[in-house]
This record gives sequence, C-alpha cells and structure tokens, in this order.
Amino acid sequence: MKVSQRVQAVPPSATIAVTSRAKEMKAQGIDVLSFGAGEPDFDTPQFIKEAAIESLNKGQTKYTPAAGIPDLRKAIADKFLKENNLKYAPEQVVVNLGAKHSVYMAMQATLDPGDEVLLPTPYWVTYPETIKLAGAKAVVLETTEKTEYKITPEQLRGAIGPRTAMLVLNSPNNPGGFCYSPEELKALAKALEGTQVLVLSDEIYERLIYGQTRFVSFASLSEDAYGRTLTINGLSKSYSMTGWRLGYTAGPTEILKAMARLQDHVTSNPVTFTQYAAIAALKDTTGAVEKMRTEFEKRGKVMAERLNAIKGISCMQPQGAFYCFPDVSSHFGRTLGGTAIKDSMDFAAALLEQKQVAVVPGAPFGSPRNIRLSFACSLEHIEKGIDRIREWLS
Ligand SMILES: *Cc1c(COP(=O)(O)O)cnc(C)c1O
Repeated sequence: MKVSQRVQAVPPSATIAVTSRAKEMKAQGIDVLSFGAGEPDFDTPQFIKEAAIESLNKGQTKYTPAAGIPDLRKAIADKFLKENNLKYAPEQVVVNLGAKHSVYMAMQATLDPGDEVLLPTPYWVTYPETIKLAGAKAVVLETTEKTEYKITPEQLRGAIGPRTAMLVLNSPNNPGGFCYSPEELKALAKALEGTQVLVLSDEIYERLIYGQTRFVSFASLSEDAYGRTLTINGLSKSYSMTGWRLGYTAGPTEILKAMARLQDHVTSNPVTFTQYAAIAALKDTTGAVEKMRTEFEKRGKVMAERLNAIKGISCMQPQGAFYCFPDVSSHFGRTLGGTAIKDSMDFAAALLEQKQVAVVPGAPFGSPRNIRLSFACSLEHIEKGIDRIREWLS
C-alpha cells in the first residue's frame, strides 16, 4: 500500500524522541522530571465547563454552520474590538478546531505551489509542515540572542522576493518566550508596505505576557497591516482548554469566505458544545485567565533566574508564553558522563538518560544552540529539575 508523497514528506515530530523516551522511563517507575509540556497544567475554569454542560443539556448536539455559530463569531468580533482595537465583521471571522487547524486552513486557502513563506527562527514545529502541505516553500530567517531572537526590518526587507507570499509571525513566541514590542512590530509593518506579502499572525499566547511586556495585534498597527494580516488566536493556552479544540481566524473578507468554504468540506463545524463554552469563556468576568497568568509569571522568573545561575547557560527573562529557551551551546563539545555532547539533540538525550530531566532540543525549532523548558509545572518541580541540570553541568 502506498502513502501519498504529500504525507511522506511530513517527518515524524523531531521533538518526539525525547518525549517518548521520557514516557517510557516514567512507565518503568523512573523519577523523570519533565519540562516538555506544551500545554497549561491548570484545569479548565469551572464556569467554562458548566457552560458546556448546560449546552449539552439543552440538546445543542447537532451540526452548526461550518464557520461557527453566529453568536460565537460575534463574540470573537467583539473581543477583537474591545481587547485589540480591531474592527472585524462576524463574516470576517471563522472558528476552527484549534489554532493549529487555523494555521493549516489559512495556508491552504492562500498559498500556491512555488510560493515562499518567510519563517523566522525559532519557529513552532508545525509551521514548516503546514507550509509544505500547502505546496509552498519555507524560507527561514535566522535570529540570535543579540536581537532577542527577533527579526529586524532590514532583514525582512532583504528577504522579500517576487515569490514571497507570506510572513509568519508568532508573538508571544513558542518556543522563544519573547514578545515583539509595539514599536518593533510597527517597524516590521512599515517594511512590508508596498509589498504583496500576507502576514499570518499567530497570537495564541496573547494573554500570557509578563513584566513590562506590552502586546499589540499586528493587524491593529495600521490600515495597511490590517489589510494584509490573518489574525489567529484560540482558547487553548489562555483558558487552559487544549482538549476542547477551539481556535479562530480573522482577516480580509475574501480569504475568510474561502476558508469557510473549504472548512465546509474538511471538518464541517467545530465541536458544537465547545462553541457554546467558548462564548462563555470570551465573556469571562471571573479573572480566571489573570490568575493563571500570575502563576506563570512567578514560575518563569524563578526558572530563568535559576538557569542563568548555571555557568555557561544564558537565558532571557520570558516575556510571554510559558517557555524558557536558554542558549546552552557553550557546553557543546564537552563530554558528560561518558557521552560527547555535540548539539542540542545530544544535550537533551544525555540529560534525560543521566539525570532524568526531559527538555526539548532547539534544533527542530530552527535554533540548534538552544533547549526549550516549559514552566507549565509547579515551582517545586522547577527547582528540583534545574538543580539536577546544574549538578550535571558542573
Ligand atoms: C499551542 C500552539 C498553537 C495551537 O494550539 P491549539 O490547541 O491548536 O489551539 C498554535 N500556535 C502556537 C505557537 C502554539 O504553541
């Protein structure tokens, strides 16, 4: 039996080697401390669960319009206006089955074979694959710690060619934990003026920002930015609703209409009772998100401080999301516990085998000098785990 060339080109997740080995070790009863989590460790707030239960009890268990129920599309449009200073009509909003699905659908609806997509490092591992599945080609823009892993307007301008169709922006960033300032984004928006480039702005970590960090939606920066941006967001990370599968896309009417048309034939509507729960979540007055954000902020601070206290590790204070992304490359070339550490893959594998600490190597994110540690876990877990890393490296 043959597998399509399209899917053959999709490799198994390069991050999976470490995570599946960690699971295997845990199953054997080994005390593994994992920093691999890509989702919040909190339960979904109770009022959201209750809205879903109420919806089920009311019999809201059938198909809805493919693009989402009108009340939810309106609630999302209201959210954009109130929180992001963005005016979208409900017709400009499509509800998807998670923001990952939003990214896939947005690319399917806008990219053609031969198109190039600018993809800054470090990038979420899903983007290169969804770009490929749309027939397009990723053009990677390298960044370093010197610019806080952000691209510059000069770099952006220099990378745009006749085939450039899209720029992918993800701020606050997974895995980098950084967030572009409004001024930095304005400069990028300016660099795009007069070009044909569409921006896919993945704003899933919007509500999880720390310290003095300010968040703005890329599309809100100017009329020009508004006209060329697909804004993607969802409930998974802010509301701790990863299993509910709800994301959404907003942008130019023509593109959103095309996405709705496509969705009709791919998935039909997002889960019906999830949509009703999402209306309740978006109208939250309980401060549930803020409570989780405060907790993440404390943990991120402790994690970065402890990492920076280790010789040869350099870690930015996280500005958003729930990841530290330290540069550990000064340890490459060493031999630890009999194992030669050449790169981030060796580093993560040896750390797991020798100290039972699971981290994600940076290479699959396009940043081979780094490792990713999630702080979606308790403070105690963070302190114990980083102690082990320090012992290992000293
Ligand atoms: C988690 C994540 C998403 C998508 O999450 P969904 O659960 O599909 O809504 C999208 N982008 C980034 C960068 C993420 O980390």
